[in-house]
Amino acid sequence: MVNDLFNKTGPCLSFEVSPPKTEEEFQAIFAKLDALAALHPNFISCTYGAGGSKAGKTAEIASYIQHRLQIDAIAHMTCVGFKREDLQKNCELLEKEGIRHVMALRGDRPQYMTDEQFGSREFFYASDMIRYLKANTSLEIAGACYPEKHFEAESFESDLEHLKEKVDAGASFLITQLFFSNDIFYRFLEQVKKAGISVPVCAGIMPVTSAKQIGTSITLSGSSVPKELSDIIANYGENKEDMRKAGIDYAVRQIRDLKEHGVDGIHLYTMNRPKTTAEIVAQI
Ligand code: FAD
Repeated sequence: MVNDLFNKTGPCLSFEVSPPKTEEEFQAIFAKLDALAALHPNFISCTYGAGGSKAGKTAEIASYIQHRLQIDAIAHMTCVGFKREDLQKNCELLEKEGIRHVMALRGDRPQYMTDEQFGSREFFYASDMIRYLKANTSLEIAGACYPEKHFEAESFESDLEHLKEKVDAGASFLITQLFFSNDIFYRFLEQVKKAGISVPVCAGIMPVTSAKQIGTSITLSGSSVPKELSDIIANYGENKEDMRKAGIDYAVRQIRDLKEHGVDGIHLYTMNRPKTTAEIVAQI
């Protein structure tokens, strides 16, 4: 149940990990998961095929989290390239592995897809997959949301309307895209409430520990970078250790403020880095 994942007394703390690309890195992820588990998160989610990671490994990692670490696991799944049978198979695999929670995403258009293939996909939006999952499985479902609007959405308002459809279809909680300005998140929460969405929303926080991230994950996320953070990168970007410390400090200050505002949850994008995650958790 969704209530099992959330604290009654304060924000829940959760982590996101990704299946590594190489077999060698994959073997190393289990020790990293052990280290993350020692920080006692309420749940750990594992991405699906994001950034070219191996899609088939998500269930294996989620199963380790759920059974070996005894922490609730959320397996991400995307539907953009899925037929009904593929989705059914993936759900059967997850249910066999004893995974009870999924993060249902449409996914980004893969490079190999032609306009025709993209235009005739079986599940058009995440909400279509969520309806299917609700009708055919007993999985508990989370959905993604975007405080600065999804990059394809015509407007913030239309994105919000579609978010409401996602929740009405059966998403019982939401996790946000990463953001660096809490004010943007608080404004988003107000609009979410006004739209009649009352499920818990976890705030997605990613520590910026190297200047390189600006060119990769941050640019891809479409999240804006406030002046304070771009100044930090300009001042410390050249020095690895100073940048790491300053990035951790920025994330810690963001999280402390979110906690003071009584948010439902903090979801840390760990980038599979337990040391950085531990330093943040120790300070919050
Ligand atoms: P949707 O909710 O389907 O929305 C996509 C777009 O369609 C939006 O612009 C929305 O406004 C619009 N829309 C929705 N419904 C309608 C409608 N009825 N009519 C018209 N327009 C509509 N990607 C991965 O590949 N793997 C992952 O593991 C992964 N994990 C993620 C975790 C989080 C927390 C987040 C925020 C994103 C994650 N992503 C992942 C990225 C995600 O797949 C992309 O952002 C993708 O482009 C959109 O997915 P979605 O589920 O939000 O799509």
